[in-house]
Amino acid sequence: MGAAADAATVQAVRAWSGPEGTRIVFELSGPADHRAFALTGPDRVVIDLPGSTASTGLRLDEAKGAVTALRTGARPGGELRLVLELNQASKPKTFLLTPNEQYGFRLVVDLPPAAAAPVVRRAPQSSTNRGRDVVVVIDAGHGGEDPGASGRGGAREKDVVLAIAKKLAAEVDSQSGMRAILVRDGDYFVSHRKRMEIAHEARADFFISIHADSYRDPTAKGATVYMLSEKGASDEAALLLAQRENAADFIGGVSLADKDQMLARVLLDLSQSAALNASMSAGQRLIRRMSAVTPMRRREVQQAPFLVLKSPDIPSVLVETAYISNPREEASLRSAKYQSALAAALRQGIVDYFAANPPEGSYFAMNPTAEAPSAVRHVIARGDTLSGIAARYRVSSASIRRTNSLRTDVLRVGQVLTIPRG
Ligand SMILES: [Zn+2]
Repeated sequence: MGAAADAATVQAVRAWSGPEGTRIVFELSGPADHRAFALTGPDRVVIDLPGSTASTGLRLDEAKGAVTALRTGARPGGELRLVLELNQASKPKTFLLTPNEQYGFRLVVDLPPAAAAPVVRRAPQSSTNRGRDVVVVIDAGHGGEDPGASGRGGAREKDVVLAIAKKLAAEVDSQSGMRAILVRDGDYFVSHRKRMEIAHEARADFFISIHADSYRDPTAKGATVYMLSEKGASDEAALLLAQRENAADFIGGVSLADKDQMLARVLLDLSQSAALNASMSAGQRLIRRMSAVTPMRRREVQQAPFLVLKSPDIPSVLVETAYISNPREEASLRSAKYQSALAAALRQGIVDYFAANPPEGSYFAMNPTAEAPSAVRHVIARGDTLSGIAARYRVSSASIRRTNSLRTDVLRVGQVLTIPRG
């Protein structure tokens, strides 16, 4: 033994369970050497940390996935032993994460499921005259060890975006010719690479990633729709946002081996322009529908280098639904009513996109008139003006007047206007 081993205090422990297995995260006061191995009869995983200690009261709050309990003990020679008791045999994979904005050093122990869970996905329907269902992959951002942004009232991005994603999936599944696949349906972490793999395995026709924005100024508000940019970002704020969202892998925890594969995939992404044009087209339609239910921070699709949007052949957008850092919008994000209204608007935007750009052999290609885009309807709220509404939907005041046969610009609260196509 040459240099002294790294040793630390194990300060806290968290556990997460998902389809990829169970993840246990130990918070450390600094880097620590460790050795992990599995034992049977009963099944358990042992992690030895030479020279390290555990904070008093270090305990796992509840059983999670494969882990039923955590025991700690001091071994001769000043070695800390952590024992994870399991309800099934599992070979541990461990790695150390270095500090980031949110956390200090962490030791991650991943326990894959005993047998690889069979991937059960419905095969695309191929009834020839009806056309196949288009597949919409819905990605709730963050999850598990990575909470995303937080509101002053305690809302966490990972929770509100999952609620919206589930509502959107139900909307999509209720629509003729479409079916939804959720990237995650619980509180666990999924790497960027895995999110894209799920979309590819599902042969997604469209990928939508749902997030909530955050800014130090609590008055910042409104939704934004993003697509991948080939180079640079729309503006500095978009670049900073992409950097923050891309950091998820470091917060949620991806070992170096996974990162190398990620890089290899990104380098292969050479021919994205067709998917980028489609993403722009879809993003514009989403904005049009979202404008009826929420203020938009930007009325054009913004561009930034988001890792999760890097699928070369799948039209992909990322929606920042609202500012969780704005107390009013945080309350909206938590409200089931707002979540439902937003999910319905997103579904309409996706239908508009497929009606205009039907994939070959799909229901939308076989039934071109069935899903002709319905008109956007705007319900007049207090303070609405004709010019304000025109700007919001990027149409002229004159065309709104014409479509609705308005004799005057005076609007009544509750009045419903049909918004002409821009
Ligand atoms: Zn996010």
